Amino acid sequence: MLMSGTELARAIVQRAAEKAADYTRRTGAKPCLATVIVGEDPASVTYVRMKQNRCHKAGIESRHVALPERTTTEELVAQIRELSDDPAVHGILLQHPVPHHIDERAAFEAIAPHKDVDGVTMHSFAGMSFGHNDFLSCTPGGIMRLLDAHDVEIAGKHAVVIGRSPILGKPAAMLLLARDATVTICHSKTVGLADVVRTADIVVAAVGKPRFVQGDWIKPGAVVVDAGYNEGNVGDVDFDAAVDHAGLITPVPGGVGPTTIAVLLEQTVDASLRQLDA
Ligand code: NAP
Repeated sequence: MLMSGTELARAIVQRAAEKAADYTRRTGAKPCLATVIVGEDPASVTYVRMKQNRCHKAGIESRHVALPERTTTEELVAQIRELSDDPAVHGILLQHPVPHHIDERAAFEAIAPHKDVDGVTMHSFAGMSFGHNDFLSCTPGGIMRLLDAHDVEIAGKHAVVIGRSPILGKPAAMLLLARDATVTICHSKTVGLADVVRTADIVVAAVGKPRFVQGDWIKPGAVVVDAGYNEGNVGDVDFDAAVDHAGLITPVPGGVGPTTIAVLLEQTVDASLRQLDA
């Protein structure tokens, strides 16, 4: 069975748009997401443009800050602090990855916690780890919504997360743990990865390598969530092989991707309403 994210994302965005309209009725202004990009990586430019378009359709203003490749960490941090201090900006998204010479962590930490609608700060990570969520990392948040929308039982299940990046693998593992899964986090130094994955009831693939997870790694009936998105619209799971083993599996595209953007929009609107009521 396919775990499609398209319909689910549409429903989340629809609710966010209604709440955005409510914000506009109350204030005469729109919720505002600031997107910051450094350099001109074509994939990042496309992602940011896609996010801006979705904002526009949902009644959310997007303010775009494009900085040149040569931007220093200090300059980026200063720019993000400015947005953090600007009362007209409700959410801030720094497009990952930034150029190698920049300290990405320092830049993320310049985002005020109450504007961290992409869930990338240490404050948000602590919230996800301790079960006091303000904002979720958007992709892991979208994954949890997908699992819930398909009534996947999480408590007591063995979830194997492949990948430990701060924006995806680690927070996904924390959210699954908070829901009482027994979680194993795998990474590039994991020994015997295939055998670990074979014990999983839920597999989350967040590796960044096309068709990396093989069909015969999947326990019959397991739930397979493919967060990967690689060149040529290909995920991190060998879908054609895995589909014969999995009980539920996300397609790529049309699985995790749409829910990620939907959670971003939802959290932006929630941030604007919280800041209004603060
Ligand atoms: P990342 O920062 O490059 O992290 C990749 C992770 O995979 C690392 O933890 C790495 O381990 C691990 N890894 C690499 N090779 C491995 C191997 N041979 N065996 C086991 N683990 C291995 O990537 P990311 O930002 O988390 O993104 C992962 C994927 O998700 C990419 O395809 C990306 O395009 C996609 N993505 C999708 C969305 C969406 O909206 N759908 C959003 C973000 C990312 P080490 O830590 O040991 O290096």
